[in-house]
Amino acid sequence: MGLLECLMPPSIFNVSQTRLLDNEQGAQLEPQFRPALLVVDMQEDFCPPNGSLAVAGGRSITPLINTLLTSPLLVLRVATKDWHPPNHISFASNHQHSSPETSTCCPESIGTPAIPFVSTTTIHNPHNPSESYTTRLWPPHCIAGSPGAALIPELDVSKIDKILEKGTDPRVEMYSAFYDPFVSPRVSDSGLADMLREAKVTHVYVVGLAADYCVWSTAMDAHKEGFETVVVEEATRAVDEEAWRGVKERLVAEGKEGGIGVKVVSWQGEEVGCLFPGGLTPKGASVGGEDVVEEKI
Ligand SMILES: [Zn+2]
Repeated sequence: MGLLECLMPPSIFNVSQTRLLDNEQGAQLEPQFRPALLVVDMQEDFCPPNGSLAVAGGRSITPLINTLLTSPLLVLRVATKDWHPPNHISFASNHQHSSPETSTCCPESIGTPAIPFVSTTTIHNPHNPSESYTTRLWPPHCIAGSPGAALIPELDVSKIDKILEKGTDPRVEMYSAFYDPFVSPRVSDSGLADMLREAKVTHVYVVGLAADYCVWSTAMDAHKEGFETVVVEEATRAVDEEAWRGVKERLVAEGKEGGIGVKVVSWQGEEVGCLFPGGLTPKGASVGGEDVVEEKI
């Protein structure tokens, strides 16, 4: 099913959800458009001005996310929180360059602390050491229960159905809201895929922070799990804008060759329009960028 099939005749959207699901004989009709919104990691540590891993413009996307949360068609609204123990493997402070598993810039760095954003480490599957991958190290962030791990107060959590914590296992990184990257065997699973399936979700909209890490990993796994998946461009921000631009350009190029599933769509696009059959509210229609919220970085 293509995403644009959500653009059903307006009359479909005008009936109640109950009537949409039941035909005259009382039999269940196959629902065509049951979207879910995943709000990824809108936490203090990922936002200016005080976040330890602040993403430029991170706080400014909140009005757009709050508008998306008002869509009458969403069947599930899930927020995620990065929720790490202090000894989490992704923190540079938990590594030294002396480790053979930690990449170093130069021999004289041996024994010095790993450098956030710069150093990388190799993470092994704790159940299968032959499975491993190299990943970037970060400043300590989103330590469970700390002020930095809190959802930012601007986010309208009253509209959120479920809040998921991820990255709780100190041994593995977990960018995706679904599970860690290891496959044989998987180490940590949030249960999100089952949650979406139980709600009979067909389409997944992903927003939040950061575009080039947790948002993207979450979107890729949503697609892998069989959901039509979009990232709403204006409702996300990247750690590395240049890398994010590269991802988007690759998507466009691959889309021309048949598409890979995940799409990065515009706030003005028809995919977002599908969520608001009666049109966006004036508040939602007027927002659109950095000028929405003043912020000092
Ligand atoms: Zn993290």
